[in-house]
Amino acid sequence: MRIDSIHARSIFDTRGKPTIETTLQGSTLKAVASVPSGKSTGSHEALELRDPDGGVATAIANVEGEIARALCARDFSSPEEIDQALIALDGTANKSRLGANAILSVSIAAMRLAGLEAGVPLWSAISARAGTTPAAPRLYVNVMNGGVHADFRLPFQEYILVVEGLTSAALPIAHAAFDKLGERLGDVPMGDEGGYAPTFSALDEPFEMLDALVAEFPGTSIAIDAAASELYRDGRYHLLDKSFAPDELAQVYRDIVTRFPMHSIEDPFAEDAASDFTALTASIGQQVIIVGDDLTVTNPARIETAIEKKEINAVLIKPNQIGTVSEALRAVQMTHAAGWATVCSHRSGETHDTFIADFAYGVGAHGIKAGGLGQRERLEKFERLVAIENELLRK
Ligand code: PEP
Ligand code: MG
Repeated sequence: MRIDSIHARSIFDTRGKPTIETTLQGSTLKAVASVPSGKSTGSHEALELRDPDGGVATAIANVEGEIARALCARDFSSPEEIDQALIALDGTANKSRLGANAILSVSIAAMRLAGLEAGVPLWSAISARAGTTPAAPRLYVNVMNGGVHADFRLPFQEYILVVEGLTSAALPIAHAAFDKLGERLGDVPMGDEGGYAPTFSALDEPFEMLDALVAEFPGTSIAIDAAASELYRDGRYHLLDKSFAPDELAQVYRDIVTRFPMHSIEDPFAEDAASDFTALTASIGQQVIIVGDDLTVTNPARIETAIEKKEINAVLIKPNQIGTVSEALRAVQMTHAAGWATVCSHRSGETHDTFIADFAYGVGAHGIKAGGLGQRERLEKFERLVAIENELLRK
């Protein structure tokens, strides 16, 4: 692989915040990639480089300056080698010098360019590099947005309808269920991730609504992302007008799992409350998937600890938490080797880039979180999965 030139620019994400889009010009083909941005970010994530005014001018200057000088007109045998060069050039543990956003934009574009140059679809290039078996992930459709994504109208950040099966069959079901829920909720605002943002006064109410929906749509179940780091203050978790000690919150989850058709619970506790994760996984991990997000931040070292301590039994994979595609693939490989599931995820501030759909399909992830159906940038990820299935059918 050879890169002739690199250009980057600022584009707006779904929240109207600037983010970076990078174009790699190879010897004959070019690839473009843009990176998303989180809001409920874990403190152990790689650093997203922002200027004091919130812009990405420094990240762009790093891509077009130092990174371009290091990568252009050199021969690379693979996208991993490009990632290695980026990691070495940055030289920090959390990519804080050049910025994980700057680095990831180049890393994704390099993987895309490798696929184009090999004449294979992106998901196929990803699975070939990772040694994974491609498969359609379950859709995790974020139907009700809460927490920091909707000014805490709902206590937990994400109320998700999980839909089983091939995406071409699952997406119409997701649409019908999403519309039905919308009719029942009436005129409510949209949250950051294109799901409804209603207000309820009792913890059970959103679960009761989703329970009714699941009963009407076979092949569906409920997941939540509690994003509990955002609920945690002074040793307690604050939900609606009550506060809960960790063992009291664990009881809330046990109760929910007993009463409702739950598929998974993400970040049930704060990012450093590892022993609370371990206790919950030991008690309900047979019935429900316990997913680490802020806990593990797609970081192979933190995933290794989670595996040793049996903190969870599934890992959320967000490439921008770690900053290169190769490291995100390493996180997937470790998770799968432990016999655990991966759920690949977008961020709450998204772009039109559908990389995460190819990534999820290529690694054969258990699920893909790509938001609600009320925002085009979310829908495009789900539609990309349908397109992959269509391409395969035509072969
Ligand atoms: C999440 O917490 O899983 C999420 C997608 O939100 P954010 O991008 O704000 O971290
Ligand atoms: Mg999360």
